[in-house]
Amino acid sequence: MRMSRYFLPVLRETPAEAQIASHRLMLRSGMIQQASAGIYSWMPLGRRVLGKLETIIHEEQAAAGHIPILMPTLQPAALWQESGRYDDYGQEMLRITDRQGRHLLYGPTNEELVTDIFRGHVKSYRNLPLTLYHIQWKFRDEIRPRFGIMRGREFLMKDGYNFDVDEASAVHAYNRHLVSYLRTYQRMGLKAIPMRADTGPIGGKLSHEFLVLADTGESELFFDSNILELGLGDSDIDYDSREACASVFDRWTQQYARTDETHDPDHFARHVPAVRQRRSRGIEVGQIFYFGTKYSEPMDACVNDASGQRVPVHMGSHGIGVSRLVGAIIEANHDDKGIVWPEPVAPFAVGVINLKPDNEEVSAVCEDLCVRLEAQGLEPLYDDTDDRAGSKFTTMDLIGLPWRLTVGPRSLAAGELELTCRRDGRTFNCAPEEAIGRLTDIYGVK
Ligand code: ATP
Ligand code: MG
Repeated sequence: MRMSRYFLPVLRETPAEAQIASHRLMLRSGMIQQASAGIYSWMPLGRRVLGKLETIIHEEQAAAGHIPILMPTLQPAALWQESGRYDDYGQEMLRITDRQGRHLLYGPTNEELVTDIFRGHVKSYRNLPLTLYHIQWKFRDEIRPRFGIMRGREFLMKDGYNFDVDEASAVHAYNRHLVSYLRTYQRMGLKAIPMRADTGPIGGKLSHEFLVLADTGESELFFDSNILELGLGDSDIDYDSREACASVFDRWTQQYARTDETHDPDHFARHVPAVRQRRSRGIEVGQIFYFGTKYSEPMDACVNDASGQRVPVHMGSHGIGVSRLVGAIIEANHDDKGIVWPEPVAPFAVGVINLKPDNEEVSAVCEDLCVRLEAQGLEPLYDDTDDRAGSKFTTMDLIGLPWRLTVGPRSLAAGELELTCRRDGRTFNCAPEEAIGRLTDIYGVK
């Protein structure tokens, strides 16, 4: 992509309304623009990052055997009256009346709608297990939207719903989601810790929230530092194996890790050695629930089990805050010059800076580089503008592409350009060929 043809409305000034780094940097780097309180437009650069996150989520959901659908943002109130949540949900729900006088709502979550889809089609345990999910905008009329997209009113969520014939199978679905979420966050370059949670308005029996450590997070966390040592390794997991998923669940949930909502100070003091007691703040980037028959019973979503008996299905729901994750990733990856994207979620793989756009040789090398990078699937953002070099570097640092290629007449005379790492400033002077080779290695291009 040529910068001269792109739309990258960066701000030189720091917006006064932004209180935390991610909000400030998202506005300054032209990723988002506020439309009204808690409602944002996603500009091209921000849209690209959302796309990267969505791709990772879809890939990991597919690996776990979950099936994508797309439900609408507007839902009929009648379904929520069936479950009893229409009145319970309160003022966070945006209620709408259409021209026919029909009551609708902008979905804050989708348990009712997906249960309605399920009950219309699935009648036998033989069609289970089934997990349907989508990535769709939600609306919650938050009383205090803040920190940009971190606590918005309209926000993008991946939400998934499992349908199982009995509790054991539904607990397996729960564990499968825990594993797939850990893998998803890990691929995004994040450490997200599962913490035991209350079930809130979703209701139910079992729930964990996933938290990313950050000083600016809204949740207060208490945990055993041992949990920071845990990793998933590179090994593939057999999602069909109940034991394999349960063992990951056990490993990640046996250490004490709670938010202020579930924290038990006595237990923490007695069972976690003082040297391992950690207290910090965190951002909730996802939550999983097992709630049994809470929706299937009132909504009559039943299947025939193996003995021919009609039983309500066991369900759970599972959410990832896709738009909030963009903020969480920036909170965890920035410095005083700007964003520092982890490679897997960067909007572009590499920035190419042309130091002398009026020099034909330099421009020819830059253009050739871009063609070859694109051929390898490494999307470049090519600064071909005639801005001053200093301003080009400032913009590249601000938008935080993980790698930068700088091409100018002086180094080119020696057949070289400069490859620079955004995170630690490491610089390699090398031939274009070698730079492409290094980048394909870094990005694991086959
Ligand atoms: P919170 O406690 O932050 O209000 P929640 O527990 O009500 O969130 P869930 O129903 O668990 O939210 O939704 C799944 C995920 O969606 C959350 O883990 C979070 O990452 C994201 N999310 C929820 N509310 C918002 C919001 N107002 N803005 C952005 N993302 C949100
Ligand atoms: Mg939650």
